[in-house]
Amino acid sequence: MARLVMKFGGTSVATIERIRNVAAHVRREVEAGYEVAVVVSAMSGKTNELVGWVQECHKLYDPREYDAVVASGEQVTSGLLALTLQQMGLAARSWQGWQIPILTSDAHGSARIESIDPARLNAGFARGEVAVIAGFQGMHEATGRLTTLGRGGSDTSAVAVAAAIGAERCDIYTDVDGVYTTDPRIVPKARKLEKVSFEEMLEMASLGSKVLQVRSVEIAMVHKVRTFVRSSFDDPADPRPGTLICEEEEIVEQQVVTGIAFSKDEAQITLRRVADKPGVAAAIFGPLADSNINVDMIIQVVSGQAGSGAPATTDMTFTVQAADYERAMDLLRKLKSEIAYEAVEGATDVVKISAIGVGMRSHAGVAALAFRALAEKGVNIRAITTSEIKFSVLIDKDHTELAVRTLHSLYGLDKAA
Ligand code: ASP
Ligand code: MG
Repeated sequence: MARLVMKFGGTSVATIERIRNVAAHVRREVEAGYEVAVVVSAMSGKTNELVGWVQECHKLYDPREYDAVVASGEQVTSGLLALTLQQMGLAARSWQGWQIPILTSDAHGSARIESIDPARLNAGFARGEVAVIAGFQGMHEATGRLTTLGRGGSDTSAVAVAAAIGAERCDIYTDVDGVYTTDPRIVPKARKLEKVSFEEMLEMASLGSKVLQVRSVEIAMVHKVRTFVRSSFDDPADPRPGTLICEEEEIVEQQVVTGIAFSKDEAQITLRRVADKPGVAAAIFGPLADSNINVDMIIQVVSGQAGSGAPATTDMTFTVQAADYERAMDLLRKLKSEIAYEAVEGATDVVKISAIGVGMRSHAGVAALAFRALAEKGVNIRAITTSEIKFSVLIDKDHTELAVRTLHSLYGLDKAA
């Protein structure tokens, strides 16, 4: 029998009535002949509430107890959905991560899935049961402790389960009806994509699109899990297919640029007049890396007074995640004499805008078009990075909408009026 994983996010299970609607979607697939594993998130807002309670109890909380608390949101919805399915006359049972088991690393709060043994799930399918799996959670085998997979981790649970049970596809049901060329709240002309490649989706998720957790896309790509993003608010009797995330070869009509992503989660740091000599970059970025602070864009400007007799210096600009900004600034201030810079400046009112498309591999000058278009709109670019299938610019946050709309039109992504 063919197998299917269906994942439902927090807004899709926010009330008992919505859980009934989820159950109707599940019943449709069972009646179509699938063996179904359903992965559920916590009710919307629940995980935030649980995290808040943890912080209220203990500012420097034990991450193992954090996991014990926040994993409970998914325990509730898995039980409620199993009950609702039973009430409809379907055989169903709930599964917590540790019961399957879904084994993970011991990085509490952002654990990685290491293995999923499908044996118990298989036995359940053989009994004719729908498996209702609590997303977001697993277990670290050696310590026997509960773990969670990081915010948005139910997507990752779903794709990993799909790989483990050999599902034909993984349907991620959410409150939007697919993956868009950009955020439709910012660009009303954004279009729904019929298909998007794993690689592009990975970039989009990493660069700010919040549709899927980044790790879920990594797993889908490695295990070639055909993954649909689709709406749980569609009529269960007549749902639309949503957006398929699949291999590049499956996509016939390729645009040069597939989507525009943006992230306001960025901060810029500039070190003024750093000595321009071997070892400076290591002196700056080594300690940041040791403190687990991820650096993204880096620009080095040689401003040095070459020939003037004074030692050459350089300005070094880079970006970190907004959440790491204070820690990074603190660390750099402490290292002032070691690194030997003159001043440190920072800005948090910045946004990173990225254009993504596998077509960039075979087209030259794609980014240059954007630089010109942004200049014409008076948008100043603070930093640039490029790679094979994307480029990103860092600009003032105030220009987010203008820049996203400009690039969206520039690359022909606007839907026909
Ligand atoms: N409930 C968890 C969260 O809010 C996991 C998820 O919904 O994917 O992050
Ligand atoms: Mg999510």
